[in-house]
Amino acid sequence: MKAFGRPLIVLAAGLLIAATPVTAPVDELRGFTTESAKAERDWEAKFRALPSTDSLRSYMRRLSARPHHVGSPYDQNNAEWILGKFKSFGLDAHIETFDVLFPTPLERVVELVAPARFVAKLREPAVPGDPTSAQQSEQLPTYNAYSIDGDVTAPLVYVNYGVPDDYDRLERMGVSVKGAIVIARYFGSWRGIKPKVAAGHGAIGCLIYSDPKDDGYTQGDTYPEGPWRPRDGVQRGSVMEMEVYPGDPLTPGIGATKDARRLPIAQARTLTKIPVLPISYGDAQPLLAAIGGQHAPPEWRGGLGITYHVGPGPARVHLKVKFDWSLKTLRDVIARIPGGTAPDEWVVRGNHHDAWVNGAEDPISGQAPLLEEARAMGELVKQGWKPRRTIIYAAWDGEEPALLGSTEWVEAHADELAGKAVAYLNTDSNGRGYLGMGGSHSLQRFINDVARDIEDPETRLSVWKRAQLRALREASSADRRREIRAEPDLRIGALGSGSDYTPFLQHVGIPSLNIGYGGEDAGGIYHSIYDDFAWYTKFDDTSFVYGRALAQTVGTAVLRLADADVLPYEFTGAAATVGRYVKEVEKLLQEEQDTTAERNRELDEGLFAATADPRERSVAPPHQDPPPHLDFAPLENAVDALTRAADRYEKAFNRAQSGGTAFAQPSAGGINATLIATERALTIADGLPRRGWFRHAIYAPGFYTGYGVKTLPGVREAIEQRNWKEADGQIAAAAGAINAEAEVLERAATQMEQLVH
Ligand SMILES: [Zn+2]
Repeated sequence: MKAFGRPLIVLAAGLLIAATPVTAPVDELRGFTTESAKAERDWEAKFRALPSTDSLRSYMRRLSARPHHVGSPYDQNNAEWILGKFKSFGLDAHIETFDVLFPTPLERVVELVAPARFVAKLREPAVPGDPTSAQQSEQLPTYNAYSIDGDVTAPLVYVNYGVPDDYDRLERMGVSVKGAIVIARYFGSWRGIKPKVAAGHGAIGCLIYSDPKDDGYTQGDTYPEGPWRPRDGVQRGSVMEMEVYPGDPLTPGIGATKDARRLPIAQARTLTKIPVLPISYGDAQPLLAAIGGQHAPPEWRGGLGITYHVGPGPARVHLKVKFDWSLKTLRDVIARIPGGTAPDEWVVRGNHHDAWVNGAEDPISGQAPLLEEARAMGELVKQGWKPRRTIIYAAWDGEEPALLGSTEWVEAHADELAGKAVAYLNTDSNGRGYLGMGGSHSLQRFINDVARDIEDPETRLSVWKRAQLRALREASSADRRREIRAEPDLRIGALGSGSDYTPFLQHVGIPSLNIGYGGEDAGGIYHSIYDDFAWYTKFDDTSFVYGRALAQTVGTAVLRLADADVLPYEFTGAAATVGRYVKEVEKLLQEEQDTTAERNRELDEGLFAATADPRERSVAPPHQDPPPHLDFAPLENAVDALTRAADRYEKAFNRAQSGGTAFAQPSAGGINATLIATERALTIADGLPRRGWFRHAIYAPGFYTGYGVKTLPGVREAIEQRNWKEADGQIAAAAGAINAEAEVLERAATQMEQLVH
């Protein structure tokens, strides 16, 4: 990797005081000529002086003043208010609507019917001193969206986090969930995985509760004394099978416009198979206390003052849920700043505006900075700034249920986006602490460069330096620390799912980033009525300085992407990252081979029979066929091709950059058209097995982890599921995509070389 062509001087943090525009440092900016870099630095400094903490506070107070879930009056009211704001900033804005399936509860019952009787409250009480917590008539009841209707009574089984490993463990204990209702605790996986895996094992109902050990008094003082989840607090949330496809269940792959062709509800693949309801630990305690049978394994025990058993029974539970399945209207608010030189290249920036209830943290702590960015951009336009590319600001509706607003918008505009979008920049909840960066690795260098120019409000270091020092603190080995100190850029995380970047990145193949601050304020109000203005201004970014830092960070990124003469993608880091992923899947197969061999040997030795306590029930694991060897050569060769192309492109890029003026030539525009196709080349037309909506060959949410990312997903999951034939096919598919990207990049390198000669 070359440091040539990048800024070598880390600016002293003192030069970056936000309140006074600093003189542009003599410094290169990736993708800019010397002259355009100077102008860019000036505009960026002006931009960063504009976001105000007072505005952020007043936006949050206004947007979180009442519950504003999809279809509620205040959701519409907020969308119209955001539209008015965009217009008042001078942006060209409109509301785009879609009609989607969004179920809301009509009936909810959870009761213990044996050995004693107990009826769950299923209700979060208002707390004194928190005015919006008392808006009971407008609050959505506690529930999991996209659970099917159901009315079941059955013995209860405790399944820990309810992930596949937990069921293996139960099997070893001789416990089946067939015909049972399971109770799983939150965490350990995305929530939608829990009912899916439970149904796969034959359960007929699923309760999900927040255990105080993960999310309550074991962690700290509970609300309102402290920030943690109180006894009756409940985590709402979607349980849709979004790892199959997100968005409206009735219109997969197309925008849910008025006249869109809709599936009948019975054919929607993403609803749960069994009824599901979330409950508080106040409601869970009597249920868990009534479960008998074997003791729960030590690491399954939570923070309640009871002995945890797994069952089944003697606790019997009645679970009943019934929903209103009518369509609801989404309102995405879309604003535009037209580009001057390249209006058909788009930089898209978004954050959702809908919440489960009042949602001060999720999502308004991210939405308010987005509005401040838009205001500051409008201000620059008034001062004479004209971006090279078109900038689109989007406030999405319906993120909470299923990334509805972003997915339907992307599906409705997929062809146009595939031709025009150069990047999507996402934020969601924001808080006090360290900069978090995830996304496409072709943007790793770019976002690192931006982070070097932003001042951390608490330490006055650059947010990049602070994130680097934190990475050192968290590093697990001396080797890793050495890498962190030596590498020019911090590695950014790969994106799975859990916010609105998913349709952009994983359906269309648009380079995407997800950015946010956090890590210093923990709490337990997520998706409850207590996520509100009173909580946020008492326990999180109380002075809104990290809201301002977020607006400065993402706004700088938007400005720079919109103005660069040549798109600042960088591929040597991306190629190295993909190379690491290939090594990981090779190692994964090796581990499968080793553990299978070891387990089979132990079975032959009679280890399980000899070491099991005869007074406890236990079942030995099954004998498994040893995994075959797989041929990873196509992937290795593809990574080599990508590495060569990336090196060649980077060399040509650096020569052009160091000339100072090469990017000003009209033919530089043609390079951008080629560069736009690079990430798109990483998509597979047929998508991933059994979920063709997900097309990216490198990044996807896990089929059994939900939000958690699986890199090289087709290959990795086939190995994890021991599907060797599919693994072979997926190695070929991923190698094809990586080779396709290498080819596009070779074309860009040729164009870049011609620019210099
Ligand atoms: Zn959110």
